[in-house]
Amino acid sequence: MEKIFHYPLARIGIIGGGQLGKMMAQKAQKMGFHVTILTPDPDCPAAPVSDMVITGGFHDEEKISELVQQSDVTTIEIEHINTAILKDMASAGHRIYPSPDLLEMIKDKYQQKEMLKRHGIPTPAYHFVDSPGSLKKLGFPVVQKACRGGYDGKGVMVLRDERDIEKAIQAESFIEEYIPFEMELAVMVARSIQGDIRCYPVVAMEFDDRANICDLVTAPSGLDPALEKQARDIAVNTVKALDGVGIFGVEMFLSNGKILVNEIAPRPHNSGHYTIEACVTCQFEQHIRAITGLPLGAAELLCPAAMINLLGEEGYAGRPVIEGLERALSIPGLSFHLYGKDQTRPYRKMGHITVIDRERSKAIEKALEVKQFLKIKGEKQV
Ligand code: ADP
Repeated sequence: MEKIFHYPLARIGIIGGGQLGKMMAQKAQKMGFHVTILTPDPDCPAAPVSDMVITGGFHDEEKISELVQQSDVTTIEIEHINTAILKDMASAGHRIYPSPDLLEMIKDKYQQKEMLKRHGIPTPAYHFVDSPGSLKKLGFPVVQKACRGGYDGKGVMVLRDERDIEKAIQAESFIEEYIPFEMELAVMVARSIQGDIRCYPVVAMEFDDRANICDLVTAPSGLDPALEKQARDIAVNTVKALDGVGIFGVEMFLSNGKILVNEIAPRPHNSGHYTIEACVTCQFEQHIRAITGLPLGAAELLCPAAMINLLGEEGYAGRPVIEGLERALSIPGLSFHLYGKDQTRPYRKMGHITVIDRERSKAIEKALEVKQFLKIKGEKQV
C-alpha cells in the first residue's frame, strides 16, 4: 500500500552547520523536513536556514545525544566528531546515517586505506609510520598523512628527500606512494537505506596550490569515456564495499592511465556543488532522500558546468566585502553562492560560483574569467 506522510516529513538532525550543512538544510526544508543542526557557533551558515539550533561542540556527548534523541534520523556534514557516542546511540536503536562505525573508520585515513585494500580497490601503496625509520620505507618523494584530523591538505606533507624527514608530521601517520598524477577526479555516489545507488558524472578537480583547496571543478571531466566508466565503477564499488548510506565523494587520481582512489568523503563534497545547477537531483537533496529511505532522484548531468570556490582573499579579514558581483551576475548561466560566514580570512571557503553552458569549454572559460575579478575581501587588512 502507498505510504502516507505527515508534515513535517521527518525530523532531521545534522551535526555541523557550515556550508555543507546549510545547503543540506535548504534542500531538506524544501521537501518539508524539519531540520535541527548541532553547531559550536550559533552564527554559522546553516543556522538561519534551520528550524532549530543546538549549540554544542562536535565532541559534546550531552548535546549530540540531545540532537539524536529529538531527530528521526541524524546525519553529519563533518566527520571529525565524537563517533563513540553515536555508536552507543545507534546500538540503542536511533537512526544515524552514514553509520557511526563507517564514520569512525573513515575519519581515520589509515583505517580507510586498510578498508580499500581489503576490498581490492586500487589505491596508492602505503605504510604505517611506527618509527622514524619507517618514513623511508617507500623511498622518496613520499606523501605523509596524519591518520586523523586532516582536511583541505592540512595533515598532508610531501617529503621530497631524506632531509625533509625533519619536517615530518609528528602525529600518528602513514606514508603513501607519491603519485605524479595527470588529473584529480571525483565521483559522487548516493546509496539509500534500501541499497539503491545513483552515480553522478566524473568531474575533474584542480587545486589552488597556495591553500591546497579544490579550486576548479568541471563536469563532465573531459576524459575518455572508457576511463570515465572505470572511475564510476570504482566509485560505486567503493560505496558498496562501505555498505554506505547517504552521499559519498570518492576522490581519485588518474596516473599513467590508471585510476587510484585517494580518499572518501562520507557526505556531500565540494566537488559535487555543481550538481545544484547542473544535475537533475543535487547532491544535497539526494543525501536527504538516501538517509530518509525515499526513492533516489536521477543523477544525470543536464548541462556541462564549471565550479570555482570563492576563497577569502589574502591580506583581508573581518566582515566580507564582495567585489565584482554585478559583472559576474551579468554572465548568462552563472550562479552565485555566498555561505553567510560573517568573518573572512585568507583562503577561507566563503562561497562558490557555478557556470553552466552547453559547451563545456565555454563554462570553464567563463568560470576562470570570473575568478580574476570576483573577490571576497574583508573590512580589515591583515
Ligand atoms: P585532504 O583530506 O586534506 O583533502 P588529501 O589526502 O586529499 O587530503 O590530500 C590533499 C592533496 O594532496 C590531494 O588533493 C593531492 O593533490 C595531494 N596528494 C595526496 N596524496 C597524494 C599522493 N599519494 N601523491 C601525490 N599527491 C597527493
